[in-house]
Amino acid sequence: MENQNLKLNRYSIGTGDRFSHQAKAQLQACVKALDNGVEIVPVWNKSNREHAIIGSEPASARQAADAAVKALAWKLPYFCDADHITLATVDRFLAPCDFFTIDVADFIGQPADASDIGLFVKRHPELLGSIQLAGVDETFDIAADDLRQAAQKFLAAIKKAGEVYRKIVAAKGEGSFIPEVSMDETDRAQSPAELLIILAAIADEGIPIQTIAPKFSGRFNKGVDYVGDVAQFEREFSLDIAAIAYAVRQFGLPANLKLSVHSGSDKFSIYPAIHASIKRFNAGVHLKTAGTTWLEELIGLAEAGGDGLALAKEIYAEAFAHREELCGPYSTVIDIDPARLPAPSEVRGWTSEQYTSALRHDQSNPVYNSSLRQLLHVGFKVAAKMGRRYFDLLEANESVIAKNVTENLYNRHIAPVFLGVPSRGQGEV
Ligand SMILES: [Zn+2]
Repeated sequence: MENQNLKLNRYSIGTGDRFSHQAKAQLQACVKALDNGVEIVPVWNKSNREHAIIGSEPASARQAADAAVKALAWKLPYFCDADHITLATVDRFLAPCDFFTIDVADFIGQPADASDIGLFVKRHPELLGSIQLAGVDETFDIAADDLRQAAQKFLAAIKKAGEVYRKIVAAKGEGSFIPEVSMDETDRAQSPAELLIILAAIADEGIPIQTIAPKFSGRFNKGVDYVGDVAQFEREFSLDIAAIAYAVRQFGLPANLKLSVHSGSDKFSIYPAIHASIKRFNAGVHLKTAGTTWLEELIGLAEAGGDGLALAKEIYAEAFAHREELCGPYSTVIDIDPARLPAPSEVRGWTSEQYTSALRHDQSNPVYNSSLRQLLHVGFKVAAKMGRRYFDLLEANESVIAKNVTENLYNRHIAPVFLGVPSRGQGEV
């Protein structure tokens, strides 16, 4: 099998496209960044959960990405990410994907073999005591007990990641895909010291990861802003970057290894901190922002008025009626206040502007409604069920939707994170 030695670029954006209609509009945002002198590589990510809810196949995401790249004559790399896969779900992603986010969150805390723990502790005397990381004032102090506890907590998960990695290698060949390990969908954030220990274990396991997605402290709810202490996030984020640089040197992990931020979309208030940190450490970052595009489709439909607005209202009414079922799979990552959800009968009377103002993530707008936004964020199953009826309207209103998708991705995500330009509102250029 050929060994392509695929490498992920310093800056990359993971962008989700639930219905595979907006790849070109998303790529247009990367083209715009390139026009402004910054290379940002697109990674189209779609999780098994999304495919299962929509009833789509991973190959469709690949086709949409390839078509967009061809249409815009994109010359830089691009990738298709099998997002949050496990040993049980990886199979149908093997052929169409060249980026694999190996999710081991469910195995964190499962007991590791006592002999594995002993071996790991013996193999890593350099992790004991005080570790000085380049570029930060703080030192890490890791006691023998800390090391043993971290091994106990994470070794089983890392071994599982190794199994998944080797299964992908067996099918595709080494170097023909970008491996990421994710542990963000768990209940507790990993400390920077734990990240260092995890990276040592990943190196021992022989996984040449290029991105790692830890869970950061604070809440990363779907489609709405960060809830937490931004200063503390910045401190942890910087320490994580420093820990990665140390792990690259010490454990021989790939030199381009970087953090992957599974943002759950729209963590605007931490974007300046991310930008400041990557600049300070001359580091890369992968930003995953998956669901925001589907909401731009709804905004575009509402903005179009007529049948588009009517369908957007119908989708809200259906999502409202099935809110418990829709929210179930996402219960740990949403905070919806039921009292703030408008009755569908009220929404039925809304103008385009009332609908888009409530939904569009503009926190300076007094009628912006984060509960409505989160419900619609997880409500894409409603549109999936409509099938052709939904797609026909997407296609009929392509230009207004594409404009919203591109502007949202560029102005509100790419510009603040990668270019350091403060987020601008929709429609401003
Ligand atoms: Zn994630």
